[in-house]
Parts: sequence; C-alpha cells; structure tokens
Amino acid sequence: MKISQRALSLTTSPIRRLGPYALEAEKAGKKVYHLNIGQPDIETPAQFMDAIRSFDKKVVAYGPSQGDPKLIAQVQKYYEAWGMHYEAKNIYITNGGSEALELAALALCDPGDEILVFEPFYANYNSFAKISGAHVKAVPTHAENGYRLPDAATVEQYVSAKTRAILLTNPGNPTGVVYTKEEMDMVAGIVKKHGLALIADEVYREFVYDGAYTSFGTYEDLADNVIIIDSVSKRYSACGARIGCLISKNDEFTSQINKFCQARLCVPEVEQIGAAALYDTPKSYLEAVNEEYKKRRDTIAAGLAAIPGVISSDPKGAFYVMVKLPVDDAEKFAIWMLKDFSDNGETVMIAPGNGFYATEGKGIDEARLAYVLNCSDLKRAIELLGKGLSQYPGKKN
Ligand SMILES: *Cc1c(COP(=O)(O)O)cnc(C)c1O
Repeated sequence: MKISQRALSLTTSPIRRLGPYALEAEKAGKKVYHLNIGQPDIETPAQFMDAIRSFDKKVVAYGPSQGDPKLIAQVQKYYEAWGMHYEAKNIYITNGGSEALELAALALCDPGDEILVFEPFYANYNSFAKISGAHVKAVPTHAENGYRLPDAATVEQYVSAKTRAILLTNPGNPTGVVYTKEEMDMVAGIVKKHGLALIADEVYREFVYDGAYTSFGTYEDLADNVIIIDSVSKRYSACGARIGCLISKNDEFTSQINKFCQARLCVPEVEQIGAAALYDTPKSYLEAVNEEYKKRRDTIAAGLAAIPGVISSDPKGAFYVMVKLPVDDAEKFAIWMLKDFSDNGETVMIAPGNGFYATEGKGIDEARLAYVLNCSDLKRAIELLGKGLSQYPGKKN
C-alpha cells in the first residue's frame, strides 16, 4: 500500500507532542499545571445537556447538508445582536470551526497555491492548507513589538500570483493579540487590491478584555471576500460538540461549499440541537466568563512581568499569551520542566513556540501559555515557571 504525499506532508500536532512526558511526570506522582492546551475548564451551559436530554425522536436521521435550519436561525439571531445581517443561505453549519477552515481551503485552493498567515499562527492552519494542496506562506511578526502586524508594504511582499487568501485569527491564538482598526484596514486593503479571500477565524470573538471588538464581517465593501469562521467550542465551552459554521455573502463561493457539505451528508443532528440551545444562553453567561478570563489575563500578565528575561505578548483577547523565554530551546525547557524539575512535587507544562511557526528555526525560544486555569492555580503555575527558569541549565541571561 502506498501512502500519499499529501498524508506524508502533514505533521503531528506540536501541542500534543509532549503528552508522553506529562503522563510520565503524573505517573511519578507530580502535579502538572497544564498551560499547554486551550481546553477551557469553564462548565458548558446546562442548556446544552437539557436540550439533548429532551431529544425524543424515534430515528436519528440525516439532516440538511447546510445544517439544521433551527441552528442556522440561532446563528443569524446571534449575528444580528452584533449588528451583522446574514441570510440563512450565507450560513453553513460545520463539524467545528476546523471543518469550516478545511472546506474554505478546499474550495479556494489548487495544488501549489498559497494562503498568507501571520506567524506565529494556529498550528492546524498548516494541515488545512496542505489538505487542499496549498501551503501557508508566513508573514513574520515579532515578540519584541508584541506580535503586531507589519505595514502594508511589508505584507504585500508576501503576496504572489499564487496567493488565494489571507487567513487570520482575531483575537489571536497563540498570541492573544486583538487587531487594531489600522491593522484590520491594512489587511482589508490588501485583500481588496489583490482580489483575495479573507478567511477571518473569529472563534474567540467573545473573549476580548480591553474595549470593543470589530468583526471583519462588518467590512461592507469586503462582503464578497470575507469568509467568517465561527464555532461554539470556545464561546460556550463546548469543544466536544464539534459544531461550528462558515459564513459568507459570496453566493458563488457558498455554492461550492454546498457541494462539499453534500458529500459529507450532514453534521450530527443531536449536537446541532444542543448547539441551537446554547445560543439561548443568557448574555450574562458570556459576560461572567469574560470577567473570569479578564482576571486570569491580569493574573498571568502580572506574573510574567515579574519574571526576569521574559518578553510577553500584550494579551488582549482569547486565552493565550505568547512568551519569549530566556532559554536555549523552549522545547528542551518544556521537557526538562516535566522530567527534571519539581517544586513541592509540582511542575508546569507549556507548549513550545516552534510549532506555531512555519519558518524553520523560528520560535525556538518561545512558548504559548493558555490561561485556562483558575487564578490561584494560574498564580502557582507562573511561580513554577519562574522557579524553573531560574534553575534550568540551558538558561540564557
Ligand atoms: C479552537 C480553534 C479552532 C477550531 O475549533 P473547533 O473546535 O473545531 O471549532 C479554530 N481556530 C482556532 C484559532 C482555534 O483556537
């Protein structure tokens, strides 16, 4: 049996790679604080379970390929509250935001095409691009200036005849950066000028801690270019439900998406019923969650600021912060923390930064921290990180 080049070109998840070391540490009785994964500890709203418990159909049947009309109507209503008007035909329910990203790449790209991303970026973007035969082309951003976007002229140097789309996460994973109006206008200008698609991954839209948030969906003159990626995973702490959506006002594009959706028949019926109920969660739920994450953000930012030699992004959204560490190699440091370090039987696990870069050799001394722990655990985790950094043999001054 021969394996495809496409399969061979994919890589295993850099975030999951250190899993065995953590298991080993936990088996040895160490308590490991997990700052490595973006799995929120917040409870899924009861509406989800209640809706699923009351499911009483006799047959779990195929549903429409586009998605359950009730869920689509709920998504429409949610966007109305954001001042964004979509018709039902603009919305395709998908197996998480992940499938929406994959379908967007499949519908836009041919082999050899390029998708522009700003690195560091969400590692799975590599796989979504490669599955479509394309690859990501990374525009660098830097820890030293808080991973802000470069100017238009710099970004345009990365646009070629093969560029099909700009793909970005706002608020950002792994950086926690929320783009300014100027940055968004800059991206919008390039998209318009070169006739590209703008794949706006806004799954963290509700997680913004300092001021207002603007969606790329509000750029009226980009209505034909913008593809919104959304999901209930992070918003309602329902990652396992696997319900997301793709939204676009470009009928030519969505008619292609429709064909992919038909080929996979439909998205799970029961989870769609649960997800539809999630959209009835009172706004106070999202506000309380936002409040909690803001406290965590403040806790982790203060903790990091107190560790000598650490340069941190200025996290304003999502629940991540990207840090540059005073070490030779953040992956070695992460493994050392699990294998060799402990303080009162405790240690911390971080995600090495190199997995969030496409450019070879970048991100070697960086790491992503997910603040998905309560404030007191978070404080302790950052204390452990500081202690580890002061004892690590490969530290740099
Ligand atoms: C979590 C995440 C997704 C997708 O999650 P789903 O569970 O598939 O909805 C997409 N983009 C980013 C940046 C994420 O962090």
